[in-house]
Amino acid sequence: MSAQSLKILLVEDNAGDARLLREMFREPPRDFSFTVAGTLSDGLRLMGTEEFAAVLLDLHLPDSQGLRTVPHVQATNPGIPIVVLTSVDDEAMAAKALEKGAQDYLVKGQVERGEVRRAILHAIQRKRMEVALKNSEERYRRIVETATEGIWIFDAKGHTTFVNRRLAEMLDYAPNEVTTLPLGSMVMCVNEEQATLLRDLRAGVRPFECRMKRKDGAELWALLSSTPIPTTTDDRDETLVLVTDITDIKKAELLKDEFIGMVSHELKTPLTVIMGSLYTSNFAGVSEQERRELVDEATRGGEALVSIIDNLLELSRSQANRLTLQIAALDVGDVAKGVVRRVQPRAQMHTLVLSIPAGLPHVAADKVRVERILDNLVDNAVKYSPEGGRVTIFAQAETDHVTVGVRDEGIGIATEDIPRLFARFLRLENATGSIKGIGLGLNVCRILAEAHGGRIWVESNPGQGSTFFFTLPVAK
Ligand code: ADP
Repeated sequence: MSAQSLKILLVEDNAGDARLLREMFREPPRDFSFTVAGTLSDGLRLMGTEEFAAVLLDLHLPDSQGLRTVPHVQATNPGIPIVVLTSVDDEAMAAKALEKGAQDYLVKGQVERGEVRRAILHAIQRKRMEVALKNSEERYRRIVETATEGIWIFDAKGHTTFVNRRLAEMLDYAPNEVTTLPLGSMVMCVNEEQATLLRDLRAGVRPFECRMKRKDGAELWALLSSTPIPTTTDDRDETLVLVTDITDIKKAELLKDEFIGMVSHELKTPLTVIMGSLYTSNFAGVSEQERRELVDEATRGGEALVSIIDNLLELSRSQANRLTLQIAALDVGDVAKGVVRRVQPRAQMHTLVLSIPAGLPHVAADKVRVERILDNLVDNAVKYSPEGGRVTIFAQAETDHVTVGVRDEGIGIATEDIPRLFARFLRLENATGSIKGIGLGLNVCRILAEAHGGRIWVESNPGQGSTFFFTLPVAK
């Protein structure tokens, strides 16, 4: 530091004292140059316009008396080192001024040049360290508070001493609320388990999963990884825990497990029919007519299997971004006829009707995919009309697209269920245990319609039936 150039602001209303200080530094080397302000407000104004290396601050000024002068200067000039000037009988006040944030003090009338110099340089040095410490603390605080992981610190008795904002958010509390929470309100486990949990966390065993409790009582799955915070004293024996919210992963795992169970079941049912029919058809004494019926049954079981597997394949292609369409000019009427031919044998109670106007323009579409959409919609129309009735496939030309629809007279869909109807693996209450399905058909219909640049929607009257519509672009 080049002491020569240091500009010091002296806030002192006693002209004699001010002169005395300046006199001290008249002789070279001129370590400091002093600017004098007689009141606090003058001093603050000067600090606002000029840069000073430090301020020498009298605590008895006409416009500010006592200790509050220090925080006042600090609030307006947080970076400036402060040396307070006190009288002989005021040393207690000087000590308090240091607590309030001054860096040093000088007793007026009792100091000489060397001491003043030392106090100013010491104050500058100390302030620098304070600022560096504050910045570093601020930096760590920001890291902790912006972390996407929850941070939880507890002491030797298992009391929470710190949580960051993210953890508070996860549990839906304000951060200061969490620090007062007993452990049992944070984690879903009973007393003995809590003791084990704390012991494992303190030992930093390995990351493990744990159910935590939100303020509203809802469950949150978290992955906890802990590490003891090394300290020099025993009483602050703390443990740091990183908390990752894995609720979504857990839900997905659960869904996957359910899905595997459901798909296995849905695949096994038609397979059992196929195997049963084929075995029986080989029995001696089975008539030709019976054998034909058994083979038909096996064929229908096979078709049901193929349909489930085709839907699964379409879904997995779409998820892997590998859904490619074989677009050609297509007659929707021809495709619909094929679908009716395939479905009619397993829809004895239903009348399948085609209502497609002659001269309907061809669409630009993938034949297999349009068959898949219609198969799913017609299959549903039949399934969800358990009393039988009419199922109509219709189509109508619009300006640049053709709207294709499937209407049934079945159980219908409640208005509030319609927005979520095309979601994956969704089955409504109306899909009772007796109506089989895995909740994939409509999702696949939407994927395929949208892959053609079209859209899909439904209109329904509960108890009276539903109509599903989808659009396909007209072939150029
Ligand atoms: P799945 O039929 O295998 O359950 P879908 O994705 O084809 O799955 O259909 C999802 C749900 O939508 C069905 O479970 C059923 O609740 C409802 N749904 C579909 N089509 C109809 C329909 N035509 N009438 C009434 N409800 C239907």
